[in-house]
Amino acid sequence: MKKGGIVALVAVLAAALFVVLFVTTLSPSGDEDCLPSGTSVPSAGGVPAGSFAKPMKTGEAQLTSGFGPRWGTQHNGIDLAGPIGTPIYAYADGVVAKAGEAQGFGQWIVLDHNIGGRVVSTVYGHMFPDGVLVKVGDRVTAGQHIANEGNNGDTTGAHLHFEYHPGGWAPGNAVDPAPFYAGAAEPGSGAAGSGTPGSSPSTTPPAPAAPDVAVSANGAELAALPAAVGSEEHFQVDTVRVARAVHAKFPQITSIGGWRADGGGFDDHPSGRAADIMIDNWPSEEGKALGDQVKDYLWANRQVLQIEYMIWRQQYIPSDGEPNVM
Ligand SMILES: [Zn+2]
Repeated sequence: MKKGGIVALVAVLAAALFVVLFVTTLSPSGDEDCLPSGTSVPSAGGVPAGSFAKPMKTGEAQLTSGFGPRWGTQHNGIDLAGPIGTPIYAYADGVVAKAGEAQGFGQWIVLDHNIGGRVVSTVYGHMFPDGVLVKVGDRVTAGQHIANEGNNGDTTGAHLHFEYHPGGWAPGNAVDPAPFYAGAAEPGSGAAGSGTPGSSPSTTPPAPAAPDVAVSANGAELAALPAAVGSEEHFQVDTVRVARAVHAKFPQITSIGGWRADGGGFDDHPSGRAADIMIDNWPSEEGKALGDQVKDYLWANRQVLQIEYMIWRQQYIPSDGEPNVM
């Protein structure tokens, strides 16, 4: 995913809630490697086959951040800190679904597992490129050394960001991995870890907010943006939908823009996939509160609205990574 240079662009647009949508399709799967992938040799995982391993050894990792609300958004995993290069292990037997660059994570790995007959994905983030030891399609075993810890992407110190997704990876379906971490075995210990939650002081995560906009695939049932608020011309369909939904929900917003022919070197404006939702008098308490409401509304509906990322008050908020302050 290419999003270079957005930071500079948004510095100019600090008064706007800047929303960018997924319009272009992601690169087709399988294009990473056209050659036969050869034999991937499952190295000894250090825990029995079919078992479950902690993604880092407890003696080498410190839990520095839990799952839950953080910085006004949702922290989708747990952070395990240790020195750069500390080994990271596969949680369970599975297949590498993604391995490479991901917004906010530097490099990430997503593993797909079959646990009790259903798909579960685990995510490992913030590695450097040379810390990713597997590639898409590789089979891995529980406890296999798959990566080395890094400090890449949006981080303030070396750590592993670890997520647990029942049903397979999607931006909004992570649950607190701490109980699963607690139930898993120490990598290399030979012990059989459990794939069910172990005892953990962590609380049950709140259910993801349900979409509260009735939007169809083309947003046709939403009223068009009044000309006085902004023009839909040149917007991609997903951008039109966001503009209409925001206008319907927040009629007090007087200006929604985003398209310009000259993006100043950035693609998101000329391609019509960025919306600038202008907040009147944004530094005031009222302005901040309104912008926060719009941001929370869009965050809650980020999947149905196909939002890729938002920028609001110097905070970069990707839909599938970690937010960071710019
Ligand atoms: Zn994290």
